[in-house]
Amino acid sequence: MSSDRVVLVTGGNRGIGRAIAERFVAEGLKVAVTARSGEGPEGTLTVRADVTDAAAVDAAFTEVEQSLGPIEIVVANAGVTKDTLLMRMTEDDFDSVVATNLGGTFRVVKRASKGMLRGRWGRVILISSVVGLYGSAGQVNYSASKSGLVGFARSLTRELGGRGITANVVAPGFIETDMTAALPEATQAEYKKNIPAGRFASPDEVAGVVAWLASDDAAYISGAVIPVDGGLGMGH
Ligand code: NDP
Repeated sequence: MSSDRVVLVTGGNRGIGRAIAERFVAEGLKVAVTARSGEGPEGTLTVRADVTDAAAVDAAFTEVEQSLGPIEIVVANAGVTKDTLLMRMTEDDFDSVVATNLGGTFRVVKRASKGMLRGRWGRVILISSVVGLYGSAGQVNYSASKSGLVGFARSLTRELGGRGITANVVAPGFIETDMTAALPEATQAEYKKNIPAGRFASPDEVAGVVAWLASDDAAYISGAVIPVDGGLGMGH
């Protein structure tokens, strides 16, 4: 992609978000990342924001707009898990995961939509999960937050699709990051058995799909859910 558009990736200091930011830098875009800790990769502007805090999100956007210009591509990637079986799940386990994964996306995309509407161009890319549609024991909170992103993107497509703005969901399967490194080895082995590709993926394999969705080649794709899961969730 040859473009100097401005992109903001939430949670760009590590994992999938970092790989996405690196990819956009390599493609020549102007890239900002939000981080609560640490820094984004070389060539990015790092701004501080916790996505559960609307004022912090607003301030981060303002800082990026002042340095790089209006944000035209937003990748809502920041996310957390707090896995446990429903019977043991506390109100906080549920609320905090939904507030970050779904509420955080709401705050970030709402703020981004202002500039996109003004520019009559935008790409909204939401990082969901195979678990959002496939389900996963011990992840009622996470799964609900991730399937909520599908309704979010599709409603946004109906609201803003006529203004040059697309909204799509990327649903990764098992990607090698800190999030999955935290899973017990037995759980990892169990997952691997069920993945037709027979392996986990690197964050770069998600980044490539995100970059493509942001490109002109994907201008007519909106409201789609694109799995990057080695076949784990097919049909879901
Ligand atoms: P990591 O745990 O490696 O990184 C999570 C990122 O989210 C960090 O940058 C973290 O920032 C940020 N973050 C978490 N909470 C907040 C918050 N309240 N405000 C701002 N930033 C926050 O996760 P991954 O890279 O693995 O996951 C990235 C996304 O991909 C998530 O949405 C995840 O659900 C999704 N995903 C991951 C899969 C996988 O197999 N790894 C599979 C499917 C989906 P900080 O470092 O400051 O905590």
